[in-house]
Amino acid sequence: MARRRESYGAVLFIDLDNFKTFNDALGHASGDALLSQIAQRLVQRVRAGDTVVRRGGDEFLVVLPDLGDDLALTSYEARRVADKLRDGIAEPIYLGGRQLHVTPSIGITLFPQNGDKPEEVLQHAEVAMYRAKQAGRDGIRFYAPDMQAAAESRLQLQNDLRHALNAGELMLHYQPQIDSLGRMRGVEALLRWQHGKHGMISPAEFIPVAEETGLILSIGHWVLQQACRQIVAWQRAGVNMGSVAVNVSARQFHQADFVTRVERILVETGADPRRLELELTETMLLDNIGEAVDKMQVLRRRGVRFSIDDFGTGYSSLAYLKQLPLDRLKIDQSFVRELTLESKDAAIVRAVLSMAGHLGFEVIAEGVETAAQQQALLELGCTLYQGYHPGRPVAADKLPLHLAP
Ligand code: C2E
Ligand code: MG
Ligand code: MG
Repeated sequence: MARRRESYGAVLFIDLDNFKTFNDALGHASGDALLSQIAQRLVQRVRAGDTVVRRGGDEFLVVLPDLGDDLALTSYEARRVADKLRDGIAEPIYLGGRQLHVTPSIGITLFPQNGDKPEEVLQHAEVAMYRAKQAGRDGIRFYAPDMQAAAESRLQLQNDLRHALNAGELMLHYQPQIDSLGRMRGVEALLRWQHGKHGMISPAEFIPVAEETGLILSIGHWVLQQACRQIVAWQRAGVNMGSVAVNVSARQFHQADFVTRVERILVETGADPRRLELELTETMLLDNIGEAVDKMQVLRRRGVRFSIDDFGTGYSSLAYLKQLPLDRLKIDQSFVRELTLESKDAAIVRAVLSMAGHLGFEVIAEGVETAAQQQALLELGCTLYQGYHPGRPVAADKLPLHLAP
């Protein structure tokens, strides 16, 4: 049609963010209901001649066949429709007594400008969608030719990550957590990938890839095993490292058998559960607070500790805080970076400390890079610190053992 009329059209590739998490948490029947509600919203928001398709899973395509013959207007119009669809999806969804917030990542490509073979157009829209996801989800991106190369290297990264575990390229580093007297009170285990060709790759780069592909489940399991083995090694050597904190990803935590998996690892390794701390994030607890509390309570009865990572950056809901069996809040680095006693950050740190105190939680500040920051934190009443100033993440045998109490 576009070729005959010499006009432009657009294809929108819509992928829901974190749908797997919703699906795991809610069950598949509710996941289906969620998809059909979203499909209805899409259909209601396009014109009669447009086409909405469910491509599979949580992926939808919208074809806008005739947007006129002016390229600039076409992109403007396609963007406007994408915004409208995104807003439609973002409206709260009520399912089984819960209120859910779903966001999409949307890729847009124009045709025939960016190719006129159907497969080509679809692939471009998909590549643009991936770019939107990569940019932090809940976004809209237009296809640009250089995205193709980026998409290929991402695919390569996925493949390499699949082999990384077996090839022994993954390892854990440990970052000290110290108190105001300079004693080591615990460590955080941080994943490292020593890639055969590209050298060290940051977890910030490969954890999202691992989550997308589901590889995070086997990687997360390995991390837990590894951390527990390390706990035992320190137990045997007679060093008191305090707690060993392990980051748990949403998909891992939402697994139906998460609790059993952790229990089994504790038994198999012989690690003292009181030495293990699991770091969760606010966002992953909100989806299904009841289930989260249940899981936490079972493990906590065995002695496992829980903390909230990056506290203050998620959907901070005070209602959930009082329900959770927590030990620690980790104040996010964004409140520490420009911290001075007079700053607004100081007001937030004070409020968190006071609230945590009343709720019976410890508070540790993350990303402490300077002595001045640590001093300001101390004056505000925060006595636990993690960051480059107290110590960078290092291999287990490079930790400053003399700081262990
Ligand atoms: P996170 O859990 O908030 O970990 C803290 C991050 O801040 C680490 O980055 C650490 O190296 C960095 N950091 C520590 N002190 C400082 C400081 O003073 N200044 C600055 N600028 N940064 C500091 P890293 O190791 O790159 O990890 C990034 C994120 O990757 C982690 O954030 C965590 O969300 C995730 N991650 C790391 N290991 C694992 C893992 O085993 N499993 C899962 N699911 N996620 C992991
Ligand atoms: Mg962490
Ligand atoms: Mg953090």
